[in-house]
Amino acid sequence: MIIRLNTADQGQIQPLLDYVKQVSPYCKWHKASLTIVAPKMPMDKHLMAFSHLGEFIEIDTPYQLASIKAKNETIIEVKGEPIGGNHFSMMAGPCSVEDEDQIFATAALLQRLGIKFIRGGAYKPRTSPYAFMGLGKKGLQMLSAAAKAYDLRVVTEIMDLSLLEEVAEHADILQVGSRNMHNFYMLGELGKINKPILLKRGMQAKVTEWLLAAEYILSGGNPNVILCERGIRSFDPETRNVMDIGVIPLIKELSHLPIIADPSHGTGKASRVQALSLAAAAAGAHGLLIETHPNPEKALSDSQQALTFEELGLLVTQLKASIPTPMSV
Ligand code: PEP
Ligand code: MN
Repeated sequence: MIIRLNTADQGQIQPLLDYVKQVSPYCKWHKASLTIVAPKMPMDKHLMAFSHLGEFIEIDTPYQLASIKAKNETIIEVKGEPIGGNHFSMMAGPCSVEDEDQIFATAALLQRLGIKFIRGGAYKPRTSPYAFMGLGKKGLQMLSAAAKAYDLRVVTEIMDLSLLEEVAEHADILQVGSRNMHNFYMLGELGKINKPILLKRGMQAKVTEWLLAAEYILSGGNPNVILCERGIRSFDPETRNVMDIGVIPLIKELSHLPIIADPSHGTGKASRVQALSLAAAAAGAHGLLIETHPNPEKALSDSQQALTFEELGLLVTQLKASIPTPMSV
């Protein structure tokens, strides 16, 4: 149940709040927006007595604010670029920022291709502690300098809350990686900032778990969440992950949040990125997150899945020919 009150009169609100708390003890009262979010709350005769106080929206899923019943559509503006609705947003760049030449060459390419968002990791979640961990603060500085030079918006991962201030200073969109989708405390804190969050699906997360992760951010007060399908784990090592194309129309049935796809991690192999990109677009994705590198063989992380610059150019051409909606490329 979401209740949007039409009055700020505490005398009228308090009896309603008292009743809601009895039935739904962990409900949330957002005073600033005069909204009560109360899961598992039926529209019974007691509640009906308060119906003149606002709009009552019954929602039977555990996630409430993320539900399509709460809102038709979320369109997020990032420095003038819309994400969601009938826009198709391309985000591309290396897995990791490695040096100035690499990230500036990538930024120049993106501008040439009409892509408005650059991705790149500076703090990397690596499986092995002996792997390249990213350039940290230097990487963030290089990334935002390259973005500035080529009029791009920055997407980069926030690995830990201790890095929030530093990452938020350089990022236009903060990415929560697959491994952190279950980091509930962090999600709640990201609800308190005013930058959009790109929330990747946990590699073993059910759709409800993923939408509840989004709910943590939304219920913290940040309405700007972009979901990203990046493949889920299966039994078969032949594919790095199984890209769940079917989840794209499913999310659009269940939620108003924009959903983009990451076929780079979804397939783990550059040769399959093009096919899965087109499939995701055809399935209704609001955009793509793609890894590219000036010299994929030399990439310090995820080298197998990085597109060459030529391949990315080709992909953009193909997408433009196949997507009927306005593209941000
Ligand atoms: C990435 O985008 O480079 C990344 C680490 O992604 P994921 O969290 O999906 O594995
Ligand atoms: Mn990667």
